[in-house]
Amino acid sequence: MPSIISVSHLSKTYGSGFQALKDINLEIEKGEIFALLGPNGAGKTTLISIICGINNLSAGRVTVDGHDIITDARAARTLIGLVPQELHTDAFETVWGTVSFSRGLFNKPKNPAYIEKVLRDLSLWEKKDSKIVTLSGGMKRRVMIAKALSHEPQVLFLDEPTAGVDVELRKGMWEVVRGLKASGVTIILTTHYIGEAEEMADRVGVINKGEIILVEDKADLMQKLGKKQLKLHLQ
Ligand code: ATP
Repeated sequence: MPSIISVSHLSKTYGSGFQALKDINLEIEKGEIFALLGPNGAGKTTLISIICGINNLSAGRVTVDGHDIITDARAARTLIGLVPQELHTDAFETVWGTVSFSRGLFNKPKNPAYIEKVLRDLSLWEKKDSKIVTLSGGMKRRVMIAKALSHEPQVLFLDEPTAGVDVELRKGMWEVVRGLKASGVTIILTTHYIGEAEEMADRVGVINKGEIILVEDKADLMQKLGKKQLKLHLQ
């Protein structure tokens, strides 16, 4: 499979002098679900925020479908959607208003049929005129995904999409992610849960203390770690 994201020799040192990422090399294949697994503070958010162009890098190179995120930033960013951990939006805006406004930020021509499809795919259509503040936690997360998809990105980053949600909602989120993959979107998600990586991903990368220590096909990783051990982490 060809790569859609290519990260080479990427390092990040924050202004405080703390080195959050150390010489990261990573290829994300077109159409896959890639889980970036690591404990608190491992560097997951730093890595995806750099690839998405909302945090600057200290050294190295990142390309998105061949577009350098620094010298060709506009093209690179248009190919990417980011679902951050927190909902950044006007809670008193409607679902439809939020998603169509987000599309406008990318200077994309209006396409109500596309937005309708996104909302239907995410089971948000019935709520299109509802204010975000009135929605449940699970629905709000779906709005974040719809917002990130508003400009028809090829790659979607989900930063800990199931952190703090109950088991039922987590399963709902997995279904949404699988549906997105089926529609051809490449997915990169970060998680603390090895069980989530097991459930969702085609490949898994493990990051610890700013270093990628392992990248494996899911099946190979699971074989190495042993099923029993993994099931324990699912609880
Ligand atoms: P979590 O799972 O808790 O979200 P993470 O794997 O996403 O963690 P990051 O948020 O990328 O980790 O943080 C990696 C390291 O960089 C942490 O030690 C964090 O304290 C540090 N860090 C993150 N943002 C900054 C910042 N703006 N300035 C200085 N250090 C930072």
